[in-house]
Amino acid sequence: MAAGYAPPISHRYLAVRSGIGHFGYSGNIITKEYGSAIVLASVVTDAELIPTDPLPEEENYCDECKLCLSVCSSGYVDPVEKVTLTLGGKEFSYGKRRSNSRCFLVCGGLTGLNASGKWSTWSPARFKIPEKDEDFTAALPSTIEAYLGRPKFEGGFFICLIPGSRMEYTCSNCHFVCHPDKEVRKARYKMLIESGVVIQEPDGSRRAISPEEAKEYLKSMPLERRKLYESIPEE
Ligand code: SF4
Ligand code: SF4
Repeated sequence: MAAGYAPPISHRYLAVRSGIGHFGYSGNIITKEYGSAIVLASVVTDAELIPTDPLPEEENYCDECKLCLSVCSSGYVDPVEKVTLTLGGKEFSYGKRRSNSRCFLVCGGLTGLNASGKWSTWSPARFKIPEKDEDFTAALPSTIEAYLGRPKFEGGFFICLIPGSRMEYTCSNCHFVCHPDKEVRKARYKMLIESGVVIQEPDGSRRAISPEEAKEYLKSMPLERRKLYESIPEE
């Protein structure tokens, strides 16, 4: 979702209010069966359905471990501040979201290397992720231009905000790490940060290699190709 854009209906809001799941600190909907690895869909109707109640808050497994924030290279969710909203007379809260451009840049595949340099999303690009909200919009045009020059890969979403209308979705780490069992969350976090970084072959395929190998791989690229993946420091 782009900065400043709010959809007319929030699947998440409907889901917590109607008892599908709870808000995790991430603001994602979490469920005791599948954690937050779920996809929501809504139907708009004028049928006179009987409303269902929210789930009891004491059944919310979120213990604010914040591993969902640790796996988010974009820093989308504020680690301290929460927001509270009232839906149908009941209060709900979750971690305050920063600029939507954060998730758009990282989750949308425009860049993916974590600031540690040790792991990445499935994006092979490694442009610097800004720290401040106000710098994200400025980072979009050049990273979109590089994205358009890279070989394409399968999958993605329709989105009219990107030239060509297709976004190569490369993250959802915050969804995948979250599980009702904290030990599973920890194991998933470890798996991610020890899994290396993603590079792209000329045919568009991607694979994970060690951070050191990736640096050498990028350095060995012809300059014009390398510019599609990273900013090249002036010699
Ligand atoms: S990862 Fe931890 S803090 Fe984040 S939503 Fe899941 S349980 Fe809550
Ligand atoms: S999808 Fe990725 S970039 Fe977007 S909020 Fe989740 S972890 Fe962060």
